[in-house]
Parts: sequence; structure tokens; C-alpha cells
Amino acid sequence: MHQTENAMRAQLLERSALVLNRSWMPIHVTTARRALCMLVRDVARVVAPDTLAIYGFEEWVRLLEPPTRLFVRSPSLRIPVPEVIVLRGYDRVPCHEAPFTRRNLFLRDDFTCQYCGRQTSSDRLSVDHVMPRSRGGRTTWENCVLACVTCNARKADRSLKETGLRLLRPPCRPRWTPYVNLRPSQRLDSWQRFAPDNRRSVQ
Ligand SMILES: [Zn+2]
Repeated sequence: MHQTENAMRAQLLERSALVLNRSWMPIHVTTARRALCMLVRDVARVVAPDTLAIYGFEEWVRLLEPPTRLFVRSPSLRIPVPEVIVLRGYDRVPCHEAPFTRRNLFLRDDFTCQYCGRQTSSDRLSVDHVMPRSRGGRTTWENCVLACVTCNARKADRSLKETGLRLLRPPCRPRWTPYVNLRPSQRLDSWQRFAPDNRRSVQ
């Protein structure tokens, strides 16, 4: 029994928490465990996602109706698990340019073949050069897209025009802050108003 409780608590403490800087810009994703440590040290406050009210640790653990039903329990305390925190003294503006990496390309294209629109696992997708490398196509945000095995085979070393294939959307460099470098499944619903999933608007 104790084992199970401990395991559940550990799991809750590993949940993601969004970190906002003092200007309420999302800058980072951390764990609920670290978020609580920052609360205790008074370097951050919890943000209630619905009301936007902010709470220090003492207020947070005493809330009668906290904005979550997830709690970490200790013998004397019932601590609501924070999902969004705001730092008290940190105003760094995050970098807006996502580096061109394989991982970021998968995130930009949302694990979706840009030819047929099939969303699949990373081992069924490869990076396709829209203008083939053999024709001088470069390895850039603007010339690389994800393609499934089938579409990749169909396209081979030909240009779009030659194959009749069409792209779902023109590939471009995404403007992300680091917080969106998460698969959609890792995002919490409560983050939406602080960190809109702007990959959807990459056109
Ligand atoms: Zn495909």
C-alpha cells in the first residue's frame, strides 16, 4: 500500500509545469517537484490558469478550492500540484529562433507526413529534401519536410513538379519559444492561454 502511494506521489511530482517569467512569457518547462521547490524558496508563485490569481506557497497549500484535483499528500499537508508558475525576478526574453535539428523538424511537422498527411511514429518517417540534394537542394527549414515511407519512395529523387505530389503547407522556419518543444501529448490543457500551440499556425 505504502509502495503504491509513494509511486503515485513520485508520478505526480514528475508532471510538467510551465514556467513564466515576470512578464508572463513562457520560458521553460519543469517538473511539479521543482516548481514546488521554487515556491518554497519564494522565487516563484503558482498561477491559477482560470482566474490568473497568483499564490505563494503558504496560500497555495491552504486553498480550499485549488484549481486542480491532483494533490501530493504528506501526513500534515495536502499540496495541490501546480501546473503553471510565474517567476518573481527573471525577465530574460526567450530565444525565438528554433535551431534546425532533426528533433525540431519532427516537432514542426507534428510527426505528420507533409505529402499525405498521415501522422505516425518517428521510425515510419524520414526527412525529405523537397528539392533533392542531388539537384542542389539544401538542408534547411525551407527545403526539408517529413515524409512517410510510402511517399518518400514515391517521390524518390525527383522534384515536386515531376511527381505531382503536393505539400500540406509550405515549409518554413518555425518561430518557437522553447516551451513548445514538446509533443502535444506532453502539454497540459491549462497551458493553452499562456503558451498557445503555435505550431498549428506555421504556414
Ligand atoms: Zn505520406
